[in-house]
Amino acid sequence: MGVWRGEALYLLDAGEGVAGQFARLAIPPDALRAIFISHMHADHTGGLPVLMQWLQLNKRKRRLDICLPSEGMDGVQNLLTMHYLLPEWLGFDLELLAVEEGPGYEAEGVSVEAIPNRHLEGFVARLKEAGDPRLGESFSYAAEVDGKRILFTADLAHPSEVPERLRDADLAIVELAHYTPEELGEVLGGLPLPRLVVTHLIHTLEPVEGEIPARIRAAGYEGEVLVAHDGDEFEV
Ligand SMILES: [Zn+2]
Repeated sequence: MGVWRGEALYLLDAGEGVAGQFARLAIPPDALRAIFISHMHADHTGGLPVLMQWLQLNKRKRRLDICLPSEGMDGVQNLLTMHYLLPEWLGFDLELLAVEEGPGYEAEGVSVEAIPNRHLEGFVARLKEAGDPRLGESFSYAAEVDGKRILFTADLAHPSEVPERLRDADLAIVELAHYTPEELGEVLGGLPLPRLVVTHLIHTLEPVEGEIPARIRAAGYEGEVLVAHDGDEFEV
């Protein structure tokens, strides 16, 4: 998922296939300004090494920031090194920045705030048992771009985790892998959110994709519902 502001692109997560999308859409390698990783599950991070290699091969020059949970910093650095993508070999400056709750990233016309969510909460006890110090960090991101507000939930435990952000947003990009369209519609009932884009559909919803907007609206949501596909663009 990406947010464009003019010629500048901000990427929200980097799952497998992201470099292929850059190539297919002929995105200039220097268009990308920053990547925001929500959590360290492979379907949200698995495209990072290939994207870094694609940027290297396409002779990117501009500095790139990757904002990610602190628990993933060492792992991502080691992964890039393992793939022969050493910092000094990339051809551009790469900064790995640990995300913390609250407003953290500012660029021209863009600010991004990280909102902790409970998606990985269920793993915390198991990690502790295994002597693993990780805290199960997981974030949603609220971006403000020239006064317009875009909420990217990434993965959640339940949509009720971010109601205030859903209330404020001009566009919300919400996953549908961990709760039903009805649960989402209930949370959105009565909120002024004008437009909802659903993504990351659980496999059981894929064959009945066409029914999703009606199911969300039947549960109480009154705005527009769109189902995202690769390459889709939405203007805010
Ligand atoms: Zn996940």
